[in-house]
Amino acid sequence: MCSSLRLLQAAHGAFQVFTAKELHVIDETALAALRNGETERALEGLARDGKAYINRDGASLDTLVHELLHCHAHEDFHQLGKRWIEGATEFFTIEAMEKGGLTPTHSYPEEEGVLRALLASGYSLESLKIFYFQGGDNTLSEWIDRHCYRSWKKVNEAVRHGDWPRARYGLRRKTRFL
Ligand SMILES: [Zn+2]
Repeated sequence: MCSSLRLLQAAHGAFQVFTAKELHVIDETALAALRNGETERALEGLARDGKAYINRDGASLDTLVHELLHCHAHEDFHQLGKRWIEGATEFFTIEAMEKGGLTPTHSYPEEEGVLRALLASGYSLESLKIFYFQGGDNTLSEWIDRHCYRSWKKVNEAVRHGDWPRARYGLRRKTRFL
Protein backbone atom coordinates (compact mmCIF):
# COMPACT_ATOMS: atom_id res chain seq x y z
CA MET A 1 0.00 0.00 0.00
CA CYS A 2 2.73 2.47 0.99
CA SER A 3 4.77 2.01 -2.19
CA SER A 4 1.64 2.40 -4.35
CA LEU A 5 0.69 5.59 -2.54
CA ARG A 6 4.22 6.91 -3.03
CA LEU A 7 4.04 6.22 -6.78
CA LEU A 8 0.71 8.02 -7.01
CA GLN A 9 1.85 10.96 -4.95
CA ALA A 10 4.97 11.39 -7.11
CA ALA A 11 2.99 11.34 -10.38
CA HIS A 12 -0.27 13.08 -9.45
CA GLY A 13 0.42 14.76 -6.10
CA ALA A 14 -0.15 18.24 -7.55
CA PHE A 15 -3.82 17.34 -8.09
CA GLN A 16 -4.70 15.01 -5.22
CA VAL A 17 -3.60 13.99 -1.74
CA PHE A 18 -3.49 10.21 -1.73
CA THR A 19 -4.50 8.50 1.49
CA ALA A 20 -4.47 4.86 2.57
CA LYS A 21 -7.70 2.97 1.89
CA GLU A 22 -9.21 -0.17 3.31
CA LEU A 23 -7.59 -3.03 1.39
CA HIS A 24 -8.95 -6.55 1.04
CA VAL A 25 -6.92 -9.31 -0.57
CA ILE A 26 -9.45 -11.94 -1.66
CA ASP A 27 -9.74 -14.85 -4.10
CA GLU A 28 -11.20 -14.67 -7.60
CA THR A 29 -14.58 -16.18 -6.61
CA ALA A 30 -15.12 -13.55 -3.93
CA LEU A 31 -14.02 -10.87 -6.37
CA ALA A 32 -16.49 -12.09 -9.03
CA ALA A 33 -19.30 -12.07 -6.44
CA LEU A 34 -18.51 -8.44 -5.60
CA ARG A 35 -18.62 -7.63 -9.29
CA ASN A 36 -22.17 -8.99 -9.63
CA GLY A 37 -21.23 -11.37 -12.42
CA GLU A 38 -19.63 -8.61 -14.44
CA THR A 39 -16.79 -10.68 -15.86
CA GLU A 40 -15.91 -9.25 -19.24
CA ARG A 41 -12.22 -9.43 -18.47
CA ALA A 42 -9.72 -11.01 -16.07
CA LEU A 43 -10.31 -9.94 -12.52
CA GLU A 44 -7.23 -8.40 -11.00
CA GLY A 45 -9.01 -6.21 -8.54
CA LEU A 46 -11.75 -3.65 -8.09
CA ALA A 47 -12.71 -0.63 -6.05
CA ARG A 48 -16.08 -0.28 -4.31
CA ASP A 49 -17.25 2.40 -1.91
CA GLY A 50 -13.74 3.73 -1.40
CA LYS A 51 -12.28 0.31 -0.61
CA ALA A 52 -9.76 -1.59 -2.73
CA TYR A 53 -10.13 -5.34 -3.40
CA ILE A 54 -7.22 -7.25 -4.89
CA ASN A 55 -7.15 -10.74 -6.41
CA ARG A 56 -4.63 -12.67 -4.29
CA ASP A 57 -3.77 -14.94 -7.24
CA GLY A 58 -3.62 -12.46 -10.08
CA ALA A 59 -2.63 -9.01 -8.94
CA SER A 60 0.49 -6.91 -9.23
CA LEU A 61 1.67 -3.59 -7.86
CA ASP A 62 0.04 -2.16 -10.95
CA THR A 63 -3.38 -3.44 -9.79
CA LEU A 64 -3.21 -1.75 -6.42
CA VAL A 65 -2.13 1.55 -8.00
CA HIS A 66 -5.10 1.28 -10.40
CA GLU A 67 -7.64 0.49 -7.67
CA LEU A 68 -6.29 3.22 -5.38
CA LEU A 69 -6.75 5.68 -8.23
CA HIS A 70 -10.41 4.60 -8.53
CA CYS A 71 -10.79 5.33 -4.81
CA HIS A 72 -9.51 8.88 -5.39
CA ALA A 73 -11.52 9.71 -8.53
CA HIS A 74 -14.15 12.43 -8.19
CA GLU A 75 -17.84 11.63 -8.42
CA ASP A 76 -18.25 14.17 -11.25
CA PHE A 77 -15.86 12.22 -13.47
CA HIS A 78 -17.84 9.04 -12.78
CA GLN A 79 -20.77 10.58 -14.67
CA LEU A 80 -18.85 9.92 -17.91
CA GLY A 81 -19.33 6.18 -17.53
CA LYS A 82 -17.24 3.08 -16.99
CA ARG A 83 -15.13 3.16 -20.16
CA TRP A 84 -13.95 6.72 -19.71
CA ILE A 85 -13.20 5.97 -16.06
CA GLU A 86 -11.17 2.87 -16.90
CA GLY A 87 -9.31 4.70 -19.67
CA ALA A 88 -8.29 7.58 -17.44
CA THR A 89 -7.55 5.34 -14.45
CA GLU A 90 -5.32 3.12 -16.54
CA PHE A 91 -3.63 6.08 -18.20
CA PHE A 92 -2.80 7.55 -14.76
CA THR A 93 -1.66 4.12 -13.52
CA ILE A 94 0.78 3.86 -16.42
CA GLU A 95 2.08 7.37 -15.78
CA ALA A 96 2.69 6.59 -12.10
CA MET A 97 4.37 3.26 -12.84
CA GLU A 98 6.67 4.69 -15.52
CA LYS A 99 7.57 7.68 -13.39
CA GLY A 100 8.58 5.22 -10.66
CA GLY A 101 10.75 3.27 -13.11
CA LEU A 102 8.33 0.32 -13.18
CA THR A 103 6.74 -1.51 -16.11
CA PRO A 104 2.97 -1.11 -16.44
CA THR A 105 0.73 -3.89 -17.82
CA HIS A 106 -1.77 -1.84 -19.92
CA SER A 107 -4.94 -3.53 -18.68
CA TYR A 108 -7.39 -1.45 -20.78
CA PRO A 109 -5.57 -0.85 -24.09
CA GLU A 110 -8.66 0.30 -26.05
CA GLU A 111 -9.94 2.69 -23.39
CA GLU A 112 -6.37 3.92 -22.92
CA GLY A 113 -6.18 4.50 -26.70
CA VAL A 114 -9.22 6.78 -26.58
CA LEU A 115 -7.63 8.86 -23.83
CA ARG A 116 -4.39 9.08 -25.82
CA ALA A 117 -6.34 10.21 -28.92
CA LEU A 118 -8.04 12.90 -26.86
CA LEU A 119 -4.72 14.18 -25.49
CA ALA A 120 -3.11 13.97 -28.95
CA SER A 121 -5.83 16.33 -30.22
CA GLY A 122 -4.82 18.87 -27.62
CA TYR A 123 -7.02 18.35 -24.55
CA SER A 124 -4.57 19.08 -21.76
CA LEU A 125 -3.37 16.50 -19.27
CA GLU A 126 -3.84 19.13 -16.59
CA SER A 127 -7.55 19.55 -17.47
CA LEU A 128 -7.97 15.79 -17.43
CA LYS A 129 -6.38 15.49 -13.98
CA ILE A 130 -8.40 18.37 -12.56
CA PHE A 131 -11.63 16.83 -13.82
CA TYR A 132 -10.69 13.31 -12.69
CA PHE A 133 -9.43 14.18 -9.22
CA GLN A 134 -11.26 17.39 -8.33
CA GLY A 135 -14.45 17.26 -10.39
CA GLY A 136 -16.33 20.31 -11.58
CA ASP A 137 -17.98 21.01 -14.91
CA ASN A 138 -17.63 18.48 -17.70
CA THR A 139 -14.86 20.32 -19.54
CA LEU A 140 -14.20 17.25 -21.64
CA SER A 141 -17.51 17.16 -23.55
CA GLU A 142 -17.42 20.89 -24.16
CA TRP A 143 -13.84 20.70 -25.41
CA ILE A 144 -14.59 17.80 -27.77
CA ASP A 145 -17.58 19.67 -29.24
CA ARG A 146 -15.40 22.66 -29.92
CA HIS A 147 -12.18 21.06 -31.18
CA CYS A 148 -12.81 17.55 -32.47
CA TYR A 149 -14.01 16.15 -35.75
CA ARG A 150 -17.12 14.60 -34.19
CA SER A 151 -19.33 15.86 -31.37
CA TRP A 152 -19.13 14.60 -27.79
CA LYS A 153 -22.46 12.84 -28.38
CA LYS A 154 -21.07 10.86 -31.33
CA VAL A 155 -17.71 10.13 -29.69
CA ASN A 156 -19.34 9.04 -26.46
CA GLU A 157 -21.77 6.82 -28.34
CA ALA A 158 -18.82 5.07 -30.00
CA VAL A 159 -17.04 4.69 -26.65
CA ARG A 160 -20.12 3.26 -24.96
CA HIS A 161 -20.53 0.71 -27.75
CA GLY A 162 -16.86 -0.20 -27.70
CA ASP A 163 -16.45 1.00 -31.29
CA TRP A 164 -12.84 2.06 -30.72
CA PRO A 165 -11.78 3.01 -34.27
CA ARG A 166 -14.86 5.27 -34.59
CA ALA A 167 -14.17 6.85 -31.18
CA ARG A 168 -10.53 7.57 -32.06
CA TYR A 169 -11.51 8.84 -35.52
CA GLY A 170 -14.06 11.23 -34.02
CA LEU A 171 -11.48 12.60 -31.61
CA ARG A 172 -9.21 13.84 -34.39
CA ARG A 173 -8.66 17.57 -34.34
CA LYS A 174 -11.14 19.49 -36.50
CA THR A 175 -9.50 20.74 -39.68
CA ARG A 176 -9.59 24.44 -40.20
CA PHE A 177 -9.76 25.87 -43.68
CA LEU A 178 -8.37 29.35 -43.89
ZN1 LIG B 1 -10.54 -0.15 -13.05
